[in-house]
Amino acid sequence: MTTNLAEIVAQVRADMESHIGSGRVADYIPALSRVDPRKFGIAVTTCDGETINAGDAEEPFSIQSVSKVFALTIALERVGEALWQRVGREPSGSAFNSIVQLEHEHGIPRNPLINPGAIVVADVILNQRDPKLAITEILEFLRARADDRSVQIDLEVAQSEADTGHRNTAMAYFMRAFGNLNGPVYDVLTTYFHQCAITMNCVQLARAGLFLAGSGRDPISGEQVVKEARARRINAVMMTCGHYDASGDFAFHVGLPGKSGVGGGILCVAPHRASVAVWSPGLNEVGNSLVGSLALERLALLTGWSVF
Ligand code: GLN
Repeated sequence: MTTNLAEIVAQVRADMESHIGSGRVADYIPALSRVDPRKFGIAVTTCDGETINAGDAEEPFSIQSVSKVFALTIALERVGEALWQRVGREPSGSAFNSIVQLEHEHGIPRNPLINPGAIVVADVILNQRDPKLAITEILEFLRARADDRSVQIDLEVAQSEADTGHRNTAMAYFMRAFGNLNGPVYDVLTTYFHQCAITMNCVQLARAGLFLAGSGRDPISGEQVVKEARARRINAVMMTCGHYDASGDFAFHVGLPGKSGVGGGILCVAPHRASVAVWSPGLNEVGNSLVGSLALERLALLTGWSVF
């Protein structure tokens, strides 16, 4: 198993060689636009506790929307099923920051993995407290899950998100007008922007997602992070909504729950087998890592890990 998986990961990396550098690096903030498009990293952490990585797997990157999965986990633990009264769980079929859909659906975002849904989730975590407490809670959750206290927030990214996040701000006010935000818009967005600005490397991210592969239990520490049924549901939402308008395509090609971010990272869960993180900054037109998606497709094919 060990040799096989190591060979497969090496093979995936070799197969990506000719694609590396493709796609368009996010350029809405300086800290993301200056990332080298030729970076590529992959880390696979298995439920047996071994980690195999290749390429730039130990270089930190901005996890951006991958953070939405962890925030969702925290919010579900906080309010349980009641969350689903404020956010749906259907694929959106539109861009991650679409306002049109939000208007149409009266301020109830389609799912927690698009921006407005994640802003509602941030409001739940904020819970009318000082944003510093909510941000610390999210960061500490990721540090615990990654079993690594060095996970940090990039404050330059957080500031740039706030400086340029007019659309997110508009959506937050919009939802507030519909009565779907409890906290002050500024505080909710401060929480959301800092969560997006968390930096992690592939090894940390794969480790952090392992509880979702282990039926809610971290197979290394033995900690039951969430109940099995909840892990199954988070994985279901990742499968149907984790890649925005390309979620169907990701399911078609990869066949695993996954969540992308505009920093070029993707967290992918192979239930009962492994947690995988890939990073390649060039994005496709929908905003998902182009080479990262290809690498996961290749990995799923070579391992036979697709859930279908
Ligand atoms: N910080 C980005 C935003 O809110 C995250 C988007 C993403 O990763 N898709 O617009």
